[in-house]
Amino acid sequence: MSQEADVLAAQDKLKILQLKQQELARQLGTTDFIWNGSISKRFLTCGKPSCPCHRDTGAKHGPYYYWTTKKAGKTVSKLLTEQQAGILQQWINNRRELERILDAMQKLSQEAYESMLVIMEHAD
Ligand SMILES: [Zn+2]
Repeated sequence: MSQEADVLAAQDKLKILQLKQQELARQLGTTDFIWNGSISKRFLTCGKPSCPCHRDTGAKHGPYYYWTTKKAGKTVSKLLTEQQAGILQQWINNRRELERILDAMQKLSQEAYESMLVIMEHAD
């Protein structure tokens, strides 16, 4: 390819990347509340040795919902009601979606930068 063709290809690519970027920015604009950490659902055994929960998996107590996060490098867990877990799970899903969008934006930006380098290299 000639240098001119390289520049035209880079300009076309940049336009496509800008459209993708705008679409991602639009998705960011619709993001609701977000929450860190993750939620787990657990069935547990109790401290009473005669309780069936120790012998029968189906007799375990629960479900119990825990929210888990890291604070200063330590894992912290908090017991939640089922309703609280439902709300926070949605917010955690929102955060993961936001992180996915940001990650995609950073990859797009890297490609955009490479296209811009080609364009600038051949600019008068
Ligand atoms: Zn038990």
